[in-house]
Amino acid sequence: MEKVLAAVRVGPSMTEIRDFPMPEIPHDSALLRMEVGGICGTDVKMYATPPSKAPVIMGHENIGYIAKAGREFTRRKGFKEGDLVFVEHYVTCGQCEWCHLGQYRHCESTDWRYNPDAIRYGYTSSEKAPHLWGGFAQYMYLPWNSVVHHVPKGVTPELAGLVTPMSNGVEWSLFDGGVGYNSSVLIQGPGQQGLSQTVVCKQAGASLIIVTGKSKDRARLEVAKALGADHVIDVQKEDALARIMEITGGKGVDVVLDCSAGAGTMPILLGIDALKRKGGTMVVQGEMAEFPNFPLAKMTLKFVTLKSARGHSYKACELALQQLASRRFPLEKITTHTFGLKDVDLAIKSVGGHGVPDVIHASLMPWK
Ligand SMILES: [Zn+2]
Ligand SMILES: [Zn+2]
Repeated sequence: MEKVLAAVRVGPSMTEIRDFPMPEIPHDSALLRMEVGGICGTDVKMYATPPSKAPVIMGHENIGYIAKAGREFTRRKGFKEGDLVFVEHYVTCGQCEWCHLGQYRHCESTDWRYNPDAIRYGYTSSEKAPHLWGGFAQYMYLPWNSVVHHVPKGVTPELAGLVTPMSNGVEWSLFDGGVGYNSSVLIQGPGQQGLSQTVVCKQAGASLIIVTGKSKDRARLEVAKALGADHVIDVQKEDALARIMEITGGKGVDVVLDCSAGAGTMPILLGIDALKRKGGTMVVQGEMAEFPNFPLAKMTLKFVTLKSARGHSYKACELALQQLASRRFPLEKITTHTFGLKDVDLAIKSVGGHGVPDVIHASLMPWK
């Protein structure tokens, strides 16, 4: 029987290469030949501290070619063998209101934090048949309720690997933050997520983009400038709030996007202070269990809107794919590194800043 190789997380910061049987593909399903699995900050977290003991094929930002498509899969969904596609990590019920809205991220069927039977690429146990529920593998299984997008012509698999951070950029800055023409924006954290937000804000017409980072982020802050940031601030060398107020003539910014990782409460506190006098918006993604001395009064007196960054909608993915196809920004400055299947451990650690230096976005290429 034909085997499929996959990198399986078997414990905290532990990976094993295992093989799985090549699945039978029913009429309503398909098989994806993986080209690129993007690695993001969430992987760094989930690898070091897995949310469960189950063995998991990680990889939730997946690009590949349809290798086999059942007759019904092609008829219903419009994808055929040979198509280059992006697969969202949400596997949906197809029936609830969120699914009908294209907001698959909120569907209960894919919400692993709430529903123990949820299916989500990169999160679901590899013990669950047909096992191939993650992108760090040669193939991935696509049931009828997978959410698939065509990758536009001219976009390489590696460039398409940026679609997830870019679609989060669209969702968080445009849809959640309301960034548009003449907006002033503070983006905290110059990783792949912050840099993608920079591109999207620039494209949307923001008149001022400030990106913050730490001293170790010097190269990333240079990339931020190349992608459209007007100012960059090293928060370890400068008084960030004083600089922001100087740049904005004491006014503060319209929108704050928190794309920092492991920076504790600091970005939130800076964000509240950096927002304009009234009516600013802050989009946050922190998952700290507690926030002692949260300055609620400061926030309400400034009439701040606080929003939660939670993945991306169908529409955001389509816009992100068009952004990639436009070739308007030098995005090859973000896609810095590629790794093979046997180097999953090194790849994830490198994205987390321990391993190969200066990684911004890493592509896992299972056939490399
Ligand atoms: Zn991710
Ligand atoms: Zn649903």
